[in-house]
Amino acid sequence: MYPISPDLQKTLATIRAFIDEEIIPLEAGFGHSMKALEPLLAEKRQKVKEMGLWLPQIDKEFGGLGLSLVEHGYVSQELGRTPLGHYVFNCQAPDAGNMEILIEYGTAEQQAQFLQPLLRGETRSCFSMTEPENAGSNPTLLSTTAVLEGDSYIIDGHKWFTSSADGAAFAIVMAVTNPHHENRYRRASMIIVPTDTPGFELVRNISVMGEAGDGHASHAEVRYNEVRVPRSYLLGDEGAGFVIAQQRLGPGRIHHCMRWLGICERSFDLMCGYAVRREVAPGRRLADMQTIQNWVAESRAEINAARLMVLDAAHKIDREGSHAARQEISLIKFYVANVLQRVLDRAIQTHGALGMTDDLPLAYWFRHERAARIYDGPDEVHKWSVARRILQNYEG
Ligand SMILES: Cc1cc2nc3c(=O)[nH]c(=O)nc-3n(C[C@H](O)[C@H](O)[C@H](O)COP(=O)(O)OP(=O)(O)OC[C@H]3O[C@@H](n4cnc5c(N)ncnc54)[C@H](O)[C@@H]3O)c2cc1C
Repeated sequence: MYPISPDLQKTLATIRAFIDEEIIPLEAGFGHSMKALEPLLAEKRQKVKEMGLWLPQIDKEFGGLGLSLVEHGYVSQELGRTPLGHYVFNCQAPDAGNMEILIEYGTAEQQAQFLQPLLRGETRSCFSMTEPENAGSNPTLLSTTAVLEGDSYIIDGHKWFTSSADGAAFAIVMAVTNPHHENRYRRASMIIVPTDTPGFELVRNISVMGEAGDGHASHAEVRYNEVRVPRSYLLGDEGAGFVIAQQRLGPGRIHHCMRWLGICERSFDLMCGYAVRREVAPGRRLADMQTIQNWVAESRAEINAARLMVLDAAHKIDREGSHAARQEISLIKFYVANVLQRVLDRAIQTHGALGMTDDLPLAYWFRHERAARIYDGPDEVHKWSVARRILQNYEG
């Protein structure tokens, strides 16, 4: 249905071998600190550049491989087999989304100052929209303001779950610039804030399921205390924040879903490999038990179905754009997040106590990917949105 060209097949095989041989062995150190791993990861990033595989998701004119969304989906699945994969190829969230925004909406100056170092992998970035005081699932409920004073915006607000703010060079901040606009979707703007601007306060890396993490692998609470940035740091038009966000989230959700399928595939491999090795009585292995066989068969079916759905959505975005594919995007967002949770849970259960340890990546993923059902829109919001649209067709 979505044939892989011989070229892409070769690329995928190269990536798989590289991930297996060079990146998976680094996982042991990952649970403790991403920052501590950075020097080693920088070496691996250099290798990826030398292999000509840097920035798979970015157009060739900006130094990437110029893959379509379907093609990058396949790549993302390979990279997702380890928590470090996307970072090493510089296609990790939230940077990948911010690169897209800067390519699409950045001025020449913004691209030179913020995009180019990001593309080269010299800097990282973050995306700062969600606020503790407001329901993130209704993104029009924002309290952060950006007030124009002369030729500067003065930004005031309180954000949290600004992923990867720790060590980021800049944030793209969603702030209300036009509070009285009649259309509530035209009230907020995206503004670039360098993190060394006075008033940018990283309050803490939030402890998530027992881990605060660091560097790229962290989620920060941030205060913007009268942060003053030049007006020229506005992205796109004033009031265009939601329009830009919608554009960013379409491809972003494909990237996440295919990454989750990479996690599913690795978990599935681990589960099956363990099931055929582990004896629970002489000559009686886990693989011989029907419960485990059911988990294997159900997981295979769910992963295959999820992959076809994601490729279908990616194909539609490639052909018709994110707006036309919004139903498909909502469907995969909640469906794949739940497949991920079920497959991970079965893999952990199959491994018994070993599944709970950090000797395998399963427990890390179980802790941190529970959030897949919440970020970029909780399950319930996507289901509501899909059902509402479907049911409209049945109204008299
Ligand atoms: C690990 C992680 C990383 C994140 N990274 C970022 C980031 O980098 N930048 C950023 O800005 N934000 C980020 N977020 C925030 C994320 O986008 C929000 O958590 C999300 O939008 C939900 O908002 P909320 O947490 O305020 O939940 P709320 O809006 O308060 O919703 C709470 C719950 O209510 C239910 N609910 C809400 N609306 C409906 C509805 N219409 N119908 C039925 N039920 C409903 C859902 O079950 C939902 O989980 C991240 C979150 C996590 C967990």
